[in-house]
Amino acid sequence: MRLTVIGSVAFDSVETPFGKKEDVLGGSATYASVSASFFTPVNLISVVGTDFPMRHRTMFNKRNIDTSGLENKKGKTFRWKARYHYDLSYAETLSTHLNVFEGFRPEIPKNVTSKDNLLLANIDPELQDWIFEKINPRGLVACDTMNLWIEHKRKELLKLLKKVDLFLLNDAEARQLSGETNLLDAAKYIAGQGAKMIVIKKGEHGALFFSKELRFMVPAYLLKKLADPTGAGDTFAGGMTGYLSKTRKITDSVLRKALVYGSILASFTVEKFSIEGLLKADLKDIENRYRHFEKLTKF
Ligand code: AMP
Repeated sequence: MRLTVIGSVAFDSVETPFGKKEDVLGGSATYASVSASFFTPVNLISVVGTDFPMRHRTMFNKRNIDTSGLENKKGKTFRWKARYHYDLSYAETLSTHLNVFEGFRPEIPKNVTSKDNLLLANIDPELQDWIFEKINPRGLVACDTMNLWIEHKRKELLKLLKKVDLFLLNDAEARQLSGETNLLDAAKYIAGQGAKMIVIKKGEHGALFFSKELRFMVPAYLLKKLADPTGAGDTFAGGMTGYLSKTRKITDSVLRKALVYGSILASFTVEKFSIEGLLKADLKDIENRYRHFEKLTKF
């Protein structure tokens, strides 16, 4: 089943204790669609400026990511600048320039249908909701967000939550949204807002899954070296929804595997800056880590 991904395509400037990169390819929809494309064909809906090089579009197309919904607008591509300290779970945003995203309301390409699954990767919840209404999806609808929107667009986000099947956010965001310190209480609050399935990502400590029928926890894949945590959450969301789109049927066992694949894909992202780690990986590398993961967690 095809997966439609909407979110940001960006140029990121990032500093971590392990290095610094300027204006490298990033954005929630970039990480999510490259990650999902290991499992399923993707339709990418986003916007870039005239400064966006053709080679990035070619990279998407080579990976079975349809870019007819990646609009080219006069102006500059979205830019995000951030710094991480030794606690890599927290990104200090130094600047956000929406640029061409200002007031962006995309044309929905003809090949995007209501039958496809939909991943609303992190972007303004008003835009996520607009896309939802435009597409009127009948497949799985997943949604990711960030602290900025919880703080400034809470009402819009809560309205959207009633429509989504799977909501992904990190532990700090779950606490911020719910006002609860305990993550079980936070998940209960979020479920009360309408999300049927909830993933609370905990960075290097893995992720928690909650639904009426299933509770499950998955660790993060153990790595020797880490370069940059940017995009780990988006990669997780893309890997998980990509796998669910491939399998079509959602059972407890499929959900557990989807979480493991999300975790494994994220491990490739954090090993390098930008999407370099994802681009280097292939299906064999993913399966090797999957088997290693099984060994590490079996008891
Ligand atoms: P993550 O590390 O998963 O939280 O996501 C990092 C990515 O989100 C970066 O590549 C940024 O370009 C992108 N990003 C940062 N702020 C925003 C925002 N306000 N809206 C959309 N995308 C953003």
